[in-house]
Amino acid sequence: MSSTYLITGGAGFIGSHLAESLLADGKTVQVIDDLSTGSLQNLQSVLDHPRFTLTVDTIMNRQLMADLIDRADYVCHLAAVVGTRRVLESPINTIHNIVVGTSNVLELASEKGKVVYVASTSEVYGKSRDLPFTEDGDLVLGPTNKGRWSYACSKAIDEYLALAYHWERQLPVVVGRHFNTVGPRQSARYGMVLPRFIEQALAEQPITVYGDGSQRRCFCYVDDVVWAIKRLVTRADNYGKVFNIGACDEITILDLARLVKDKARSSSKIVFVPYDVAYDDNFEDMVRRIPDLRRLQEATGYRPRTGLAEIIDRIMELQMASAA
Ligand code: UDP
Repeated sequence: MSSTYLITGGAGFIGSHLAESLLADGKTVQVIDDLSTGSLQNLQSVLDHPRFTLTVDTIMNRQLMADLIDRADYVCHLAAVVGTRRVLESPINTIHNIVVGTSNVLELASEKGKVVYVASTSEVYGKSRDLPFTEDGDLVLGPTNKGRWSYACSKAIDEYLALAYHWERQLPVVVGRHFNTVGPRQSARYGMVLPRFIEQALAEQPITVYGDGSQRRCFCYVDDVVWAIKRLVTRADNYGKVFNIGACDEITILDLARLVKDKARSSSKIVFVPYDVAYDDNFEDMVRRIPDLRRLQEATGYRPRTGLAEIIDRIMELQMASAA
């Protein structure tokens, strides 16, 4: 019989790609999503699939989660608030859902002996300058009056909890720290830079670079992330460990704006928006963020397969096809 995966947040950007890929592998997929930032649109290609079920509800519904986890072999826990903007707008909800939601998943999975993948984030490295970031390196978070850090801190608690469940209760759990994942279906609505720049360029609107654009990021294609998640969760050697998942090619945000403008053959102006206008005074950006991928490479043979120029082409092609 094919194994069953429960994907929390499966109607979201990464979750929906994971659902498609697992179904293509012959697995059975259950998704729970409250559609707060995910959408049915994301799941359009799988909604009628015979091995797919969707439950529209919150992961805070414990009884329901108990039933869903009962029926699963693997739980991929991806449900969380997305986007810096939403984190700043509703911090109580952010902290509560991340910490209590994950705690519920881990407790239920541990009672039922199920394997869990916990999606964490490169945000946990915070202001560390110890590049590239290694999984055992220090986390350097900002003060509690700067809202951005509530997300990183909550995700760090999730990681502590996951590792504690592994250590104290032998839960088979693996943590992935996602670094700036991009690809088709990522919404521009939640502030993420690449979909915003593409939308702005295609609409011939100003491309909004925050600060002076010298901050740098490494962007990773969603299919590479899905590839890594599938391999991490199915190998017992990986349980009880944390893995960076991303790509290593850095680009400044200003160069990203130029690249997108160029690829879209757009006449958009590139404009600089001060941070206090873009977010508020309560914001601190990270200057650089590069993953050390050695642990992931050694465990799975991982190599990011899709470069940024190709990623941008693919996203734009699909966007233009769906607009036509
Ligand atoms: N950014 C930008 N213009 C935008 C949106 C974001 O210059 O319209 C910048 C943002 O300040 C950050 C980088 O792009 O330095 C990546 O932002 P994103 O929210 O995509 O991810 P982060 O790396 O901050 O989690």
